Amino acid sequence: MNQQLRSEPVSFIDIGAQRRRLGTSIDEAVGRVLTHCQFVNGPEVTELEQKLAVFTGAKHVVSCASGTDALLMVLMGKGVGPGDAVLCPSFTFCATGESVALTGATPVFVDVDAATFNMDVASLKQGLVAARRAGLRAKGIIVVDLFGQSADHDAIAAVAEAEGLFVLDDAAQSFGATYKGRRLGGIGNIMATSFFPAKPFGCYGDGGAIFTDDAEFADVLRSIRVHGQGSDKYDNIRLGLTGRLDTVQAAVLLQKLTIFEDEIAARNVVAERYARGLGNVVTVPRVADGNLSVWAQYTIRLPNGNRDGFAAALKANGIPTAVYYAKSMHQQTAYRHFPVADGGLPVSEALSADVISLPMHPYLDEPTQARVIAAVRDAVAG
Ligand SMILES: *Cc1c(COP(=O)(O)O)cnc(C)c1O
Repeated sequence: MNQQLRSEPVSFIDIGAQRRRLGTSIDEAVGRVLTHCQFVNGPEVTELEQKLAVFTGAKHVVSCASGTDALLMVLMGKGVGPGDAVLCPSFTFCATGESVALTGATPVFVDVDAATFNMDVASLKQGLVAARRAGLRAKGIIVVDLFGQSADHDAIAAVAEAEGLFVLDDAAQSFGATYKGRRLGGIGNIMATSFFPAKPFGCYGDGGAIFTDDAEFADVLRSIRVHGQGSDKYDNIRLGLTGRLDTVQAAVLLQKLTIFEDEIAARNVVAERYARGLGNVVTVPRVADGNLSVWAQYTIRLPNGNRDGFAAALKANGIPTAVYYAKSMHQQTAYRHFPVADGGLPVSEALSADVISLPMHPYLDEPTQARVIAAVRDAVAG
């Protein structure tokens, strides 16, 4: 390998490669919107919702302006507010717990499983104990499918059913993933996702969607999406948002959907190469049997604790890394005062101290990935 190739910077997520692959199809799709000028509620929005319903197996899809709005709209639709507790993992992107706090309800943070990084069911039960002691009414659970992998939905549904709680699946990072052979969104709970550009299924700006089998609830969400409108346009019947997905973004997503299954397969090839190349020097992610991950992130755990030194060594070789998440939610300034599950959140805290994510996207070719693997092995060996 010559020196130039060796030092050429590697992309962490290569949106440009996907753009080149799709060629003029995106330009033409956006051009059609520029011609019909229905920038809001255009025909592409309806077509996208229909195609995403087919793709996931969900009965109803309500597109919206972001993943955060998707979470918030569901919580608003469920009537969550002050005095209510919604349990969610602490080791996640801040929007998960933020959406709860925005309604005036209280997020109660629970721990995650060390192998899958997803909600730990024993800690969830301890979270219910903490919520009750704090005088809160437990209303629901937000379960997150972190880094592309499905959480243990059956185990969480069993707790929710026993306690009379709703389950909202935050699949912002996991659109397209499967749980026990079924696509998320089609497994019976309410799912929210994000189309932020860096997510596995991203658009060219902000966007999101909600998936549900409940026709009545889908109507409530459509009302919330436009300021709580009722059948009479001038009589708003509840509080809502400006929560719509732009037509241009729907047009982009319709093109990306045509290659998405192929991209998921390519991401899994990349993940397998990492597991083979790195499995004996760092802790590589493990996907539970029967699940297919979409690998939003490829997140490893370092054995020796020197994360800054590791990141610097890779950077010197032109290889970017990122830390998701250096602080779990309960460790962040805005969220420190919210309750945590009894027994504390030791796994979340340990992960926040030792995880690091490597370049991951469908267009990471084998020679480039070999460079990443070699650099990781060198850095770990010190
Ligand atoms: C990205 C993300 C969100 C928020 O999505 P936006 O579209 O950025 O608002 C919510 N939850 C998780 C887990 C995320 O990764």
